[in-house]
Amino acid sequence: MDASDFSEERNQMVDAQLAARGINDRRVLAAMRKVPRHLFVPADLRPYAYEDHPLAIGHGQTISQPYMVGIMTEVLGPGEGDRVLEIGTGSGYQSAVLAELSGEVVTVERNEMLAGMAADRLAGLGYSNVRVMVGDGSQGWPELGPYDRVMVTAASPRVPEPLKAQLKEGGRLVCPVGSRELQTLWVVTRTRGAYETGTSINCVFVPLVGRDGWAEK
Ligand code: SAH
Repeated sequence: MDASDFSEERNQMVDAQLAARGINDRRVLAAMRKVPRHLFVPADLRPYAYEDHPLAIGHGQTISQPYMVGIMTEVLGPGEGDRVLEIGTGSGYQSAVLAELSGEVVTVERNEMLAGMAADRLAGLGYSNVRVMVGDGSQGWPELGPYDRVMVTAASPRVPEPLKAQLKEGGRLVCPVGSRELQTLWVVTRTRGAYETGTSINCVFVPLVGRDGWAEK
C-alpha cells in the first residue's frame, strides 16, 4: 500500500486513542481501522485527520474527535442487520462507521450543503447502505422508521420525543443532553413500551438546532 492511504496513522489512532482508553468492542475497532477518516475532512486538514481532537469541516460545524465516535458507537451497539438513524450527518464520517456495522443507515442533516457533500463522499466510497436526508433531525425521519438504533451527534436540551417514538421495541438511542456548552451522553432503551434512561460520559457537541432542540442564535 502506498503511504498516502494513512493506514498507519489510522491504526495508531485506534491503538492509542481508542483501545488504550478502554474501547474494546472488536467490531467498532475494526470499522474505525477501515473507514478513511482523512477523506471526510477538507483537503488541507488531511494531515491532521487522525489527531486526538475534533476538526472544523466548514459551515461552523465539526467532525467529532475519534474517541467520541468510538465511544458513542460502542455504547450504541449497532448489530449487523440493524436499521440505524443518525441525526447530524456533518462530514458523514460517523455515518460511514455506522454503515460498516449495521444493515442500513438513515442520516439527517439540516445544512443542505453539508448533506450534499457527505452524500457524494459516501457514495464515492461505495457506501450504498446510507441515505442522507435534509431536514430537522430533531423530528427524526418517521417515514423510514422505526429504527433499532438512533444516534444524535449534536447537543440537545433534552432527548427529542419524536426520536424516542421512532425507536423499535428493544431499541436504543444515544444523545448528548445538557447545556449549549457541555453535555452528558444519555442512553435511552425502549423495553415493553417504557423508556429507561442511563448516562455515560460528558461531551461537547455543536447544538442541535430545531423544533425539539435549541433555537437558532
Ligand atoms: N456526525 C458528524 C458530526 C456532527 S456535527 C460527523 O461524523 O462528521 C453536528 C451536525 O449536526 C452539524 O453538521 C449540524 O449542521 C447538524 N445539525 C444541527 N442541528 C440539526 C438538526 N436539527 N437536524 C439535522 N442536523 C442538525
